[in-house]
Amino acid sequence: MSAIEIPTAPRRPGDGVRLFAFTVGHVHMPVSYFIDGEEGEIRAPVTAFLIDHPKGAVLFDTGLGQRFVRPRGTARESFIDLEAGETIDEKLRAIGVEPAEIRWIIVSHFHTDHAGGNAYFPNATIVTQEAEYDYAFNNAGEDPIYEIAEYDLGQPFLKVRGEHDLFGDGTIIIFPTLGHTPGHQSAKIRTDGGDVVLTGDCCSLQRSLDEFKLPASCHDADQFLASLKHLASLRDRGAKVLPSHDPVFWADMPLSVPLS
Ligand SMILES: [Zn+2]
Repeated sequence: MSAIEIPTAPRRPGDGVRLFAFTVGHVHMPVSYFIDGEEGEIRAPVTAFLIDHPKGAVLFDTGLGQRFVRPRGTARESFIDLEAGETIDEKLRAIGVEPAEIRWIIVSHFHTDHAGGNAYFPNATIVTQEAEYDYAFNNAGEDPIYEIAEYDLGQPFLKVRGEHDLFGDGTIIIFPTLGHTPGHQSAKIRTDGGDVVLTGDCCSLQRSLDEFKLPASCHDADQFLASLKHLASLRDRGAKVLPSHDPVFWADMPLSVPLS
C-alpha cells in the first residue's frame, strides 16, 4: 500500500494526510428531520470524504448510490436528488482516482445517503462499529433507510467496538457517536492543517452542534446529546468539526481539493 496519485492535486514532499470533500447529491427534507421543532424544508447536500493517507486511500461515507441516479439535465423526481456524474465514483474519477484504489471505507452508519455508494469500491474493507453492523443486518427489512442490497456486497468488514486507530499512527481515529443510530461513528483526521472531525449524522447542521439541537426522531436522544457534547469538546480543543448536511457550510467550502 502507498499513497495514491491524484493528478489534479499531486502530493508534495512532506505532505502527510490530506482530506478531500465531495457532495454526492442532495436530499430535500423537512428541517425538523435535522432539528426538532423547526418549520420548512431544506435542500441538504450529501457529503463524502477521501482521506489520502501515505498508507493508502480511505473514504469516509460514500453518499447516495446508483439506484437514485437520474439522467443529466432531467428534473428531480423525488426528495432524493442525484444527477448522473454526482456519484462518489465519478467525483473520484474527476480528480484522477480510480475506485479500485480505495482500500478502506469508514461508514458513519449504513443509512442509504451514507453507505449508498459502497458498491463502487470492490477492493475496500468496510469499517463499522459492531453495533451498527448488527443493527443494519438484522433490522434492514423493517427500517427503510437501511437498504441492505447497498452494503451486503461481499466486501470484508472490520467491525470495531469503541475507539479505533485505523493505521495505528494517530492520524485516523474512529470513535462512536451513538444516538442517530445504534452504532453510529465519527472520525478524527489529523491533517497537516490540524484535526478535522467527520461527523456523519451526529452533526448534520452547524446549529446541531452550536446549539445542541437534536432531530425530531433518532435512535436514542440521550446518547445523541452526549455525542454532540463530545464533538463540542473536540472543537474546544481546536478540531474543525464538519457538519455533514449543512447547505450554508458546504456552499462556502472548497470541494474536490485538499481541505487545509
Ligand atoms: Zn442517517
